[in-house]
Amino acid sequence: MKLANRISHITGGGSDGWDVFYRAKQMIADGIPVLELTQGEHDIRTDPVILDAMHAAAKAGATGYSPVQGDPALRAAVAARIEAATGVPTTPANIQITPGGQAGLFAAHHAVCDEGDTALYVDPYYATYPGTLRAVGAIPRPIMTRSADDFRPQAADLNTAAAGAKSLLINTPNNPTGVIYDATTLDRIAQTCVDHDLWLISDEVYDTQVWQGTHISPRSLPGMAERTLVVGSMSKSHAMTGSRVGWICGPEEAISKIFDLANTTTYGVASFVQEAALFALNQGKPLEEQVAAPFRRRRQITLDAMEGQNVVRPIPAEGAMYVMLDIRATGLTGEGFANALLDAHHIAVMPGESFGEAAAGHIRVAMTVDDDAYAEALETLVEFAQTLATG
Ligand code: PMP
Repeated sequence: MKLANRISHITGGGSDGWDVFYRAKQMIADGIPVLELTQGEHDIRTDPVILDAMHAAAKAGATGYSPVQGDPALRAAVAARIEAATGVPTTPANIQITPGGQAGLFAAHHAVCDEGDTALYVDPYYATYPGTLRAVGAIPRPIMTRSADDFRPQAADLNTAAAGAKSLLINTPNNPTGVIYDATTLDRIAQTCVDHDLWLISDEVYDTQVWQGTHISPRSLPGMAERTLVVGSMSKSHAMTGSRVGWICGPEEAISKIFDLANTTTYGVASFVQEAALFALNQGKPLEEQVAAPFRRRRQITLDAMEGQNVVRPIPAEGAMYVMLDIRATGLTGEGFANALLDAHHIAVMPGESFGEAAAGHIRVAMTVDDDAYAEALETLVEFAQTLATG
């Protein structure tokens, strides 16, 4: 039986640059020790205090259906957190709880794109983006960025791409580049949205991982609250990736329609998970900083490892749990370098090409192993690159 085109075409087809990743997994399955610096997953698990809250909630009976728009107390806590961080008046009516940021990205695009609409995203991009846009029936259109601009979108590229589009998806702090969009970049993005009447989908799942500069939510810029859907998540901020809990924050009308979508798809998020999320948010900044601390340390380890050489050029590591390294001086592609590093030293990193054309000749390193192993891996990586560059 023939399946619908929309689901058949979620993946773009062809090589997606994930071969190195699967090869590393196979090596591990074959008993070869590989140091994995690939996926965006913490090396710690969810804090036991959060698990205790989850357990207590479940034992107390929070195991039935939950309100589909989300537990009112959690929505209030998310709204308060957003209002405190941005100054934008935010109430529970602006919040829909979702099973993670990924479901939020899908629902947000489903809310603003009709079948066949053009949906913009920035290249390099988080790997699921084009598929998410295709899954809602939209046509993905990349906005190219350049290494020399630290992968921040430029006005001319934004304007050219925006003609005839319906929405623009951005992500700051950014996966895969580790860059945080500064005020100038965000003003430029906001202006493009206003000029071309675009919805802005702002993926802010890394909002607690800020190492340099500040994270500005574009919803706080003039004229943007009415056209912005912010996607948030407990995954990265509280090491709750497996719990699947996040949110969309946006205009009331959009949120009420996204509730209709939730009613026909997810039908809510587990109550005991929501109670655990509420408990975690109520711990405030100290817990967020505790979860972010290892990445802050490893980002410094990265900068130290880069000193005194110019073969490997780091893209400014301002936020998120990744660093993007320009390895073009080795003469290899990102894929070539990642494969060679895996073979020679059993260290797995992601080729830039996995995240789009713009990051060709780069690699993304996830700072997701303990400090000592991380420092050693970075030292090995730099030495390896130097050997390749000198021939
Ligand atoms: N956006 C970005 C940029 C991500 O890196 C991820 C996860 N790696 C997500 C969204 C989705 O996260 P989750 O569904 O776990 O909230």
